[in-house]
Amino acid sequence: HADDRLQRISSSIRVIPNFPKPGIMFQDITTLLLDHKAFRDTIDILVERYKDKNITVVAGVEARGFIFGPPIALGIGAKFVPLRKPKKLPGEVISEEYSLEYGTDRMEMHVGAVQPGDRALVVDDLIATGGTLCAALKLLERVGAEVFECACIIELPELKDIVLESGILLQGSSDLT
Ligand code: AMP
Repeated sequence: HADDRLQRISSSIRVIPNFPKPGIMFQDITTLLLDHKAFRDTIDILVERYKDKNITVVAGVEARGFIFGPPIALGIGAKFVPLRKPKKLPGEVISEEYSLEYGTDRMEMHVGAVQPGDRALVVDDLIATGGTLCAALKLLERVGAEVFECACIIELPELKDIVLESGILLQGSSDLT
């Protein structure tokens, strides 16, 4: 039953207060990975949602999009492309700057990994302000891909209250909470 699966996933995620700095309630998905049933359910739910949608590329955001993205890509039969922090990718890159709470960061993708006409799913573990996923979306659109959807495991609704919710982002709303 879907609700049982979501309940198990939700309770397997550990919340660590004041990490990496005071006031942040860090949502730690490493405890989800320790529960192989919860991990499998997470991947199954996303594969069920995205199979048969003609998605050709799963783009994973560093670092936790690298954990959830590849099994989804294999499950739906799509290529996997890592979106990385600056200066990690060895080949030619295109990059997109985005703002953080303090300052800016940059996300990079290999040129040629995604082609015009590719249909993309963007994967990360968590959405807070959405800034990170927006940067990913822009990168993919700049190379001519269509972004079908962004998927994440946890939604922090605009950082307003720090309650843990398990959800999947669908065009700005979470339909599985
Ligand atoms: P945002 O760009 O504001 O949506 O932030 C999302 C990115 O920051 C994701 O890559 C998350 O992994 C990370 N992140 C933000 N807040 C948290 C949190 N409370 N716990 C764990 N990761 C977080």
